[in-house]
Amino acid sequence: MDSIGHGEKSLLLLLASDFDTLDIPKIPLRPADGFWLEIADSVKPGEHCRNRHSDEYSRMIKALGYFIEIIRGILITSRHFFVNMFFHILKVVGIKTKRKGAVTIQYPEQKKEIASRHRSLHRLVPNQDGKPRCVACMLCATVCPSECIYIEAAEDPKLEMQKYPSKFIIDIGRCCFCGFCVEACPEDAIRMDTGNIELAGYTRDDLIYDLDKLLK
Ligand code: SF4
Ligand code: SF4
Repeated sequence: MDSIGHGEKSLLLLLASDFDTLDIPKIPLRPADGFWLEIADSVKPGEHCRNRHSDEYSRMIKALGYFIEIIRGILITSRHFFVNMFFHILKVVGIKTKRKGAVTIQYPEQKKEIASRHRSLHRLVPNQDGKPRCVACMLCATVCPSECIYIEAAEDPKLEMQKYPSKFIIDIGRCCFCGFCVEACPEDAIRMDTGNIELAGYTRDDLIYDLDKLLK
């Protein structure tokens, strides 16, 4: 065997593997700029031509699915556009309809008025002396599903048996704005009626609201 050259060895290996003509690699005939060339491979040794065709069909079916979704998206956008335009034209010609065409608000330059019952950023209601009306009963902290209220109670030296919050912290980053704290408060000391919905911050610390911030 030592006397057999490299070319002869390859020929022997090819002959020994399989004699079925179906398994002989097919010569790629597509031109270099042909369709699907970016994913096309020539048939590899041992790969059956029939498998390769089924792969191509599944890829084409996938691509067809993408095209269908793109066309569906264009149709939905067009429908909204033409329906809105129709209602705006009706308004221009003086025909009143129940439905109005959608109007884009140029946020943040323009701001939409929010409903009076909208749950926005919390605030602590102050007493006449400016101190919080809260009596540190912990009901809001207990009912909060996000566990984002932290209160430390202290005794008020002026009023007997009266507590006040020496610390009242809400982690807005965890709050889900359910409003349970407002509902649970027996003193109406916490409200979510500031109308402030712009609560983004650069760090998590920016979303920690303490007594000073909540009393503003
Ligand atoms: S709104 Fe809900 S989640 Fe947010 S602080 Fe109040 S009880 Fe907790
Ligand atoms: S439920 Fe009201 S009074 Fe009680 S701790 Fe919360 S805010 Fe204060």
